[in-house]
Order: sequence, then structure tokens, then C-alpha cells
Amino acid sequence: MALSATPRWAGRLVVVQALKRKRCARCRRGPLSLLVLTDGAPWCLVCADLGHLVFLPRGDTALTRRSREESALSAVVVRFNRRKSRYERQGVLVEEAALARAEARCLADAEARRRRRARDARRRAAEDERFVAAFAAEILRLFPGCPAERARAIAAHAAVRGSGRVGRSAAGRALTEGAVISAVVAGVRHVDTPYDQLLMRGVAWNEARRRIAPTVERVLRAWQGAGEEDAG
Ligand SMILES: [Zn+2]
Repeated sequence: MALSATPRWAGRLVVVQALKRKRCARCRRGPLSLLVLTDGAPWCLVCADLGHLVFLPRGDTALTRRSREESALSAVVVRFNRRKSRYERQGVLVEEAALARAEARCLADAEARRRRRARDARRRAAEDERFVAAFAAEILRLFPGCPAERARAIAAHAAVRGSGRVGRSAAGRALTEGAVISAVVAGVRHVDTPYDQLLMRGVAWNEARRRIAPTVERVLRAWQGAGEEDAG
């Protein structure tokens, strides 16, 4: 990049981070850390009428874009990378008031995002609540003899299983008869049988399930046929 004229960077005014100790060709101020090349000669920012600008290092894309939008005058700051033989962007120079306005806009966005997250969380909680209610209702349809609070507990457990939250599609899958029955079986296993204690005592998973199978079966039958048994 030949710097014979005032360099531009994608059409924008460019300020160079000085690698060598140079003085302003106009006012002799120096050594300069930032300079503008004017017809190949280094000028200080004051002589180049950029002395009132503040440096914003690169990294925050939104803040950079907005600062430049808000700033009547701005410049790209570059530094020459000798190894790569090219200039690299270090940040921008913008008006201080513009930077303040840009920061306010970014903060407002962050606040809007925070509010949206809170709304989403409330909506998800409501969805989970509806899911638990629907799941409990399905348990009671298949197992009329299941106590309501047990159905509710089994449904709530199913709702937090896996990813920690059951989404819309997952809820649809979860409400298949097979899924409801397996959730009920798991609930019975842990509450109505010594399954957990067997596992804690080191009984193998298969053996523990084999031992409790009759109890699980008895409870499920009782819950399924509660109405008929009461009638009989
Ligand atoms: Zn100067």
C-alpha cells in the first residue's frame, strides 16, 4: 500500500498507529502515536482537525457501527503488520458524544433483550404448566385409579426430564400412550417398590427390576381397573 496520498480504508478516512518515532510535518509536535498521512507526510491529529475524536478499539461490532453512524466525523485506525505486509484495523476514532449515544443505544438493546428473555421464560413456564396438566390428565384417563397428586407428580417429573424443559414438539411426543405409561411405570417403581433401595444395596439393574415387577404390575392393574374393582 503506497501511502503517497491521504490513505483511505474502504473509502473512509484513515489514521495510522505510528511504528516509528515521527514528528508532525506541520507543527513539529511529536513523537506521534497516531498520525494522518497527508501527501505522504505525517500530520498530527490536531493539525488534521481530528484532535477532538476519541479512540474506540475494535471488538464490539455493534458499538463501532453505531458510533460511526452517530459521528459526523470519524476515522479508521490502522497499524502496519510487517510480518503480513499489510495494514490491519485497530479501531475507530469517533466523536465523544457520538460514542456516548452509541453506548446508550447498545444499552437499550441489552435491556430490550433482557426483557424479551424474561417474557420467554414466563411463556415457557406457562407452556410447561399446561404440559404438566395435559400429561396428568392423560395419566388419569389411562389410569383412573391413580391418585390425582401422584399423576401430577409423575407428569411434573416427566416435564423436567431430559433437556430440563419439554418444548412444544417434545410435549406432543411425550403425550403418546407409550410415553405416558412408561412415565407411570417409572413413578410406581420409585415410589411403590424398594427399587431405589435395591440399587443402592448393589443389586444389579436387571435383577432389581425383575424383583419389583410383580409389585409394579399389581399397582398398575389397580390404577387401571379402579372403577371396575370399586363397582365389583
Ligand atoms: Zn501538527
